[in-house]
Amino acid sequence: MSLVQTEGIVLRSRPFGEADKVLTIFSKDHGKIEAVAKGARRPRSRLVGAAQPFSYLKILLFTGRSLDQLSQAEIIKSFSALRNDLTQMAYASYWSELVDSFLPWREPNPELFLFFLAGLVVLEKTEDPVLISRAFELRLLFYLGYLPTLDTCAHCGAPLDTGDKKAVSAGFSPEEGGLICARCLPELLMNPVFLSAQEILIMKNLLTTDLRRVSQLKISQDTIKELGRALRLFIEYQADKPLKSLLFLESLEG
Ligand SMILES: [Zn+2]
Repeated sequence: MSLVQTEGIVLRSRPFGEADKVLTIFSKDHGKIEAVAKGARRPRSRLVGAAQPFSYLKILLFTGRSLDQLSQAEIIKSFSALRNDLTQMAYASYWSELVDSFLPWREPNPELFLFFLAGLVVLEKTEDPVLISRAFELRLLFYLGYLPTLDTCAHCGAPLDTGDKKAVSAGFSPEEGGLICARCLPELLMNPVFLSAQEILIMKNLLTTDLRRVSQLKISQDTIKELGRALRLFIEYQADKPLKSLLFLESLEG
């Protein structure tokens, strides 16, 4: 048994035993972990607030047993606004499910941790999370090594850039892992999505733009919708399962 101190964000929780919860936490130093929060379902427990989804905590863990145990949890930022607004909660839940689905157990990823934390801060302040969520998806895929190929054909490897930094339109195939050149398109069995040159450039742009500035980009609703469709297909294919939070979010996004 050892005592470990770190910071973490609660991704989800489930009831455990009579009064406990098991929290899935994205911790800064140890990656994704599971820890029992003893008594967290008792209304007067000191862990009630800490055990809420999206809570950003300073935690003390007992490790070494089959399940880690939360010894102490101090709330650094509760992100309560994200739980009080239906739209923001839907996005924060989706982002948490994305992180949870793609992040392996106990593999530290401090860069992604800081990005996720910064993302929640941006999400809490924005009134238009749709485009920010597209940027979040792309950056998350990047940090976890799942980014679709955007410069070369995912099937044959041919470059898709014309050289003067103008992208050409291309197919987009989740099964192949990214953009597909015009020559390979007819060979593919699965139906790809088509992305215009502009949509591909915007994707690359979203990948490098600071999340705080994403809402300043002038992008049409149709383009945002098309990118959303392509990214969703890609994410669900890579995750190899439907994401529960996505259905609800889709109904909100219309
Ligand atoms: Zn090709």
